Amino acid sequence: MQHSFIYTKKMRTDFELENDVVTLLKHHDLRLTQVRKEVLSVFLKKEQALSQSDIEENVGQIDRITLYRTLRSFEDNGLIHRAIDGTDKLRFALCVDLCDKENHKHNHAHFHCEKCTKTICLNGVEFPKIIHPAGFKVKETYYVMQGVCSKCQ
Ligand SMILES: [Zn+2]
Ligand SMILES: [Zn+2]
Ligand SMILES: [Zn+2]
Repeated sequence: MQHSFIYTKKMRTDFELENDVVTLLKHHDLRLTQVRKEVLSVFLKKEQALSQSDIEENVGQIDRITLYRTLRSFEDNGLIHRAIDGTDKLRFALCVDLCDKENHKHNHAHFHCEKCTKTICLNGVEFPKIIHPAGFKVKETYYVMQGVCSKCQ
């Protein structure tokens, strides 16, 4: 099922948002719960990487452990990924590539703006293949760019 178009939508009504959330959860084999619905809505509305506290600010009352578990289930099911950005905050961003259970497939850089402090995915900006020394097994590679984003120029 093709669903990646959902990520490129710019404006949507509350009704469309709800529909998109339901579609994405279904596509990633996640049961619809109120918390999942609210948290995923924030990711779709904010086009940036979000920390646990960013999400808390946007969903009102939410139990921390429930939120933590929700993020883990999204990550495990290929809905969001860790946007490592060189800060000490752990942020997550939506996977626009077709990730699935236990299998994240992206190879894009993240950009951290020192002015607005936002972290965004540079989808489409692939990082070069780096040759690692023999005898090392690489599991993850993170590519972070830091500076001033286009909106803050
Ligand atoms: Zn992913
Ligand atoms: Zn900025
Ligand atoms: Zn990303």
